[in-house]
Amino acid sequence: MNTPTAPVTQDVLTIPRRLPEGGRTNLVGLTREALRAALIDAGTPERQAKMRAGQIWQWIYHWGVRDFAAMTNLAKDYRALLAERFEIALPEVVARQVSADGTRKYLLRVAGGGEVETVYIPEEGRGTLCVSSQIGCTLTCSFCHTGTQKLVRNLTAAEIVGQVMLARDDLDEWPQPGQGATGDRLISNVVLMGMGEPLYNFEAVRDAMRVVMDGEGIALGRRRITLSTSGVVPEIARAATEIGCQLAVSLHATTDEVRDLLVPINRKWNIAALLGALREYPRLSNSERITFEYVMLKDVNDSDADARRLVRLIAGIPAKINLIPFNEWPGAPYRRSDWERIEAFADIVHKAGYASPIRTPRGEDIMAACGQLKSASERARRVRAPAGSPA
Ligand code: SAH
Ligand code: SF4
Repeated sequence: MNTPTAPVTQDVLTIPRRLPEGGRTNLVGLTREALRAALIDAGTPERQAKMRAGQIWQWIYHWGVRDFAAMTNLAKDYRALLAERFEIALPEVVARQVSADGTRKYLLRVAGGGEVETVYIPEEGRGTLCVSSQIGCTLTCSFCHTGTQKLVRNLTAAEIVGQVMLARDDLDEWPQPGQGATGDRLISNVVLMGMGEPLYNFEAVRDAMRVVMDGEGIALGRRRITLSTSGVVPEIARAATEIGCQLAVSLHATTDEVRDLLVPINRKWNIAALLGALREYPRLSNSERITFEYVMLKDVNDSDADARRLVRLIAGIPAKINLIPFNEWPGAPYRRSDWERIEAFADIVHKAGYASPIRTPRGEDIMAACGQLKSASERARRVRAPAGSPA
């Protein structure tokens, strides 16, 4: 008789990305301090370590070099030692899609077989890279596609920095030797608005952003980085003190009753607790306002009364309100508010003295818009799974 076989599951955490190659340490995502310590551990004399770390840092993050052999200001045998002990590795790009509006979406496979998405949004004179912080998300906001993904783990700092590096590869944005600054940067801003709740992966996100902000590398200023949170109240202040980036908060409702349904973390930290933490936010000022994100869901949170309540709730907080027309996904339980409704809502908020831009949906044809991210392979598996197979 046949022994029972394991049930078919949708678990993708089965195939390692590649076999471990003699346990080489990935240098990507290490802070300067950690890089220096790793070099000492590999036998670099302590008094040289700071300088070597600086040289290697520049090769990796200023020039985009991945091959130790090309680091020509280091001695040949030292380069060989580095290659033996270390690697400069990025997540693997398994698919790349380009939208009719120029938005690019990358599907990445990370160690362990998990998948995440990164989105590049080109705009006039600037460009925003939307980076993921987790595979999936443990929170289950009812309007968000990512929240329906089963598999979740935190990304490492390497995997977060790696998203910025591979987008620079794809856009051919690493500087060429002898070439000065070349005007507008293709990736001028980074937003932590892809998959995952960044404040549930704080250390990795912080270390990754410190690498991205470092002036001798990718060198994006702290004001060009925005972290979006669903409202992890106890971690909010750390975003200001330990990263210094801009803050966006997914408010989405003006009563606890509605927010409990849309953003379930509200049952843990309700609107009053959230706004209390924001009033204390260390960097709060008129020049560093908080962005409130507000998804427009037809007949759920989009009335004039909601707009007026919103204005009353946030009174005294320097803020701007980003209105996000709901981006639909297959099986979503909501519809997008009508355009006139969104404009009427925006008008009330605007008249109360707050900037209230309506976010233009980008990359909808490739499912790259806000809240649509969920790895393509998981979608495909769902569709192919035979009826009756375990969810
Ligand atoms: N987890 C973080 C950051 C990722 S989501 C957060 O929730 O803030 C980035 C933004 O997209 C959030 O404001 C989120 O609420 C919003 N969003 C999620 N699904 C959406 C959808 N289907 N349409 C429009 N916006 C959505
Ligand atoms: Fe997670 Fe943000 Fe989606 Fe909510 S909106 S499920 S917190 S990614």
